[in-house]
Amino acid sequence: MLLEMQPAQTHIDELLNSSLHPRSDEEIKLHLLEGFPLPALILSESGELLLHNSLWLRYFSITEENLATIHRLGVVRWLDAKLEPAGTLLDLHTRAKEHYKVHSQVLPILKDGTEFELHWSPIPFEEGRAFLWVFEDKSEIKRLQRRLKESEERFQLAAQGANDGLWDWHLKTNDLYFSPRWLNMLGYSEKEFHNSIADWLNLVHPGDKRELSLRLHEHLNKRNSRFRHEYRIQDKAGDYRWVLAQGMLILDEKNEPYRFAGSQTDITEMKRMEKQLIHDSTHDFLTNLPNRLLFREELGKLMQRSSDQSTLSFAIVQLNLDQFQLINNGLGHLFGDQVLLAVAERLGSLVTEADTVARLGGDEFAILLSDRHNSESVSNFAAKVEAILAVPLKVHDQELVLSAGLGIVIRNPQHTNVGQLLGDAATAMHHAKAMGTGNWILFNEEMRAHAISRIQLESKLRRAIDQHEIRVFFQPIIDSESKEVRSFEALVRWMDPEKGIISPAAFIPLAEETALIVPLGDFVLRKACQEVIKWRSLGFPHLTVAVNLSPKQFQLPNLGERIAQILEETGMPRDILDLEITESQLMDNPTHAIEVLNRLKELGISISIDDFGTGYSSLSYLKKFPINTLKIDKSFVDGLPQDHDDVEISKAIMALAHSLKLNLIAEGVETSSQAEFLRSENCGLLQGYLYAKPMPATDVGPWLVDYYQKLSVRSLEFSK
Ligand code: C2E
Ligand code: CA
Ligand code: CA
Repeated sequence: MLLEMQPAQTHIDELLNSSLHPRSDEEIKLHLLEGFPLPALILSESGELLLHNSLWLRYFSITEENLATIHRLGVVRWLDAKLEPAGTLLDLHTRAKEHYKVHSQVLPILKDGTEFELHWSPIPFEEGRAFLWVFEDKSEIKRLQRRLKESEERFQLAAQGANDGLWDWHLKTNDLYFSPRWLNMLGYSEKEFHNSIADWLNLVHPGDKRELSLRLHEHLNKRNSRFRHEYRIQDKAGDYRWVLAQGMLILDEKNEPYRFAGSQTDITEMKRMEKQLIHDSTHDFLTNLPNRLLFREELGKLMQRSSDQSTLSFAIVQLNLDQFQLINNGLGHLFGDQVLLAVAERLGSLVTEADTVARLGGDEFAILLSDRHNSESVSNFAAKVEAILAVPLKVHDQELVLSAGLGIVIRNPQHTNVGQLLGDAATAMHHAKAMGTGNWILFNEEMRAHAISRIQLESKLRRAIDQHEIRVFFQPIIDSESKEVRSFEALVRWMDPEKGIISPAAFIPLAEETALIVPLGDFVLRKACQEVIKWRSLGFPHLTVAVNLSPKQFQLPNLGERIAQILEETGMPRDILDLEITESQLMDNPTHAIEVLNRLKELGISISIDDFGTGYSSLSYLKKFPINTLKIDKSFVDGLPQDHDDVEISKAIMALAHSLKLNLIAEGVETSSQAEFLRSENCGLLQGYLYAKPMPATDVGPWLVDYYQKLSVRSLEFSK
């Protein structure tokens, strides 16, 4: 260790005055120099070593041998090596003389492994011919200053947040200081805790230990400019709390770290909220099942894993409840929610921990079967799903039997991404739904081809609407008694430049699914109105027009307004429009249907039930619907008048219409014997190829003229 040293000034005065004493200069100087409590030298102006005290020798560990070398080479060499880059000894002598000022410089040296700061001052005397060099250890003062700085820094850290615990790691001594708040945060008091890094790390969650020490070391090795890390730490009660530790290295003058200090904040509550937020954004609010987002993520993970182990195959089941819309609209949303909850629970009971049941939205669920799967095992699973859904469900005294359409896809090596897999599952599900209620189907390649052609068709249809490839054809509806033309049914056509005329049966269902039906329907209605107004003005003032309304259109919340607006725009009298709605459309949700029909009736529009007889109308409802006409479906007209069943059914329908005071139209009349039978049974209106096939609007005028010409010739012949 270093020797204790005293401030030098009084001794220097004594020394400088020594020449007044009656002894030899040399002797006195040496005497005083020895008594001097600091390492000291007397040098000539040019740097020659004149005198030294033994403290100097001891302090700088100068042996006799060293000393001989120093004498030989001059003290200049010895000092210059230490003074760099402050300047050479001679420079310092000159400067000290000129300013008559004590010069000092930090001279760090290592002694006993500890670093000290040594100040030295060349003091000129004897009119600058000699210089007294005194070396003073300022380490202690520095240490005091440093401690002051530390407590200031600590104070600063404390000010940063009273809520934060503070830690302060002295790298040289490996002492770790924890503030009371730091300890208190974990339920410890100062007495219960040691000041070591080991004590800290011992409490860190085993899963977080490695990462924390990695981060600490990264910063200690200056590989990271800032230390900031979240981890779990055990409190006194044994619970883990989430904390955020942040800190910085404190560097000394040589840019070497000597302390590592910082704060620690309890972020358990923040983490809990964060977790909740993540949960909420990845789960369905109603059922608490994973949502589409999380499902995709899980699927992605499983795909990753199964591509590593090429043998592991898994399956996705996508499920859409049958007639859920009906349940929701008919029985209310609260009821619908209960149904969804029950479905979620039932599906959950069929799977294992490793599987995932998700609600993709609405009445759509998906199940990720993570085990190895083949067509047999997924078929068994699908059967189980249908069976569990079929168990009668009681909600608010109402008993329901559910079913669903299930699309299943087994992952194969061709599936390279999540989107593909989900797309295939959805495709299979749509196929299952198209097959009727309660069906399930395994995806196959043809379905994909079909799906692709559907997508292509969809974009083509979109273009077709924009590029006026959509036309409206008209088919006359004839009075069975007078044979006069009463009305025209508007039937849409797609004039494809390559394929020619595409029948509505080929694209209306697609337009339905993609909501393209809405602009398409508006277009047909507008066209029908414009045309019928024209024909009426051309000498057929009693003509009306019938327009088909698709289920999607019928469900539009603003249907009445939309139609009213088109009638307004085109100047169409309201009482000459007839809307054709299929029977099943009405029966899907009779309460809603009655509301919509009443609204249309208020507008003065009449309503026909299309394809009557093919659905399952309940007679009690039929009475309540504000409708005007029944259209007997072509399938019952086909066998007339020979087929016994067709005769019975058509007669029953006609009787029903008569008793409900509804008009009747028979569609698909192709032969005069069919027409004659229907006329004789009082079916007022007939439509079919017998009179005309649907024709372009431009053909209608000439056709009417021609028709009436033939009609008058015939009636003339008749009256002869
Ligand atoms: P629909 O409303 O039942 O229309 C009657 C269908 O029977 C028409 O077929 C018509 O061309 C055909 N038809 C009429 N008379 C005869 C006949 O004597 N023999 C035979 N074999 N067929 C006859 P189209 O035009 O192909 O329409 C098919 C279906 O497409 C329509 O059935 C209707 O449901 C739908 N549709 C047509 N146009 C539209 C439209 O503008 N909007 C909506 N939503 N659906 C439409
Ligand atoms: Ca129709
Ligand atoms: Ca029809």
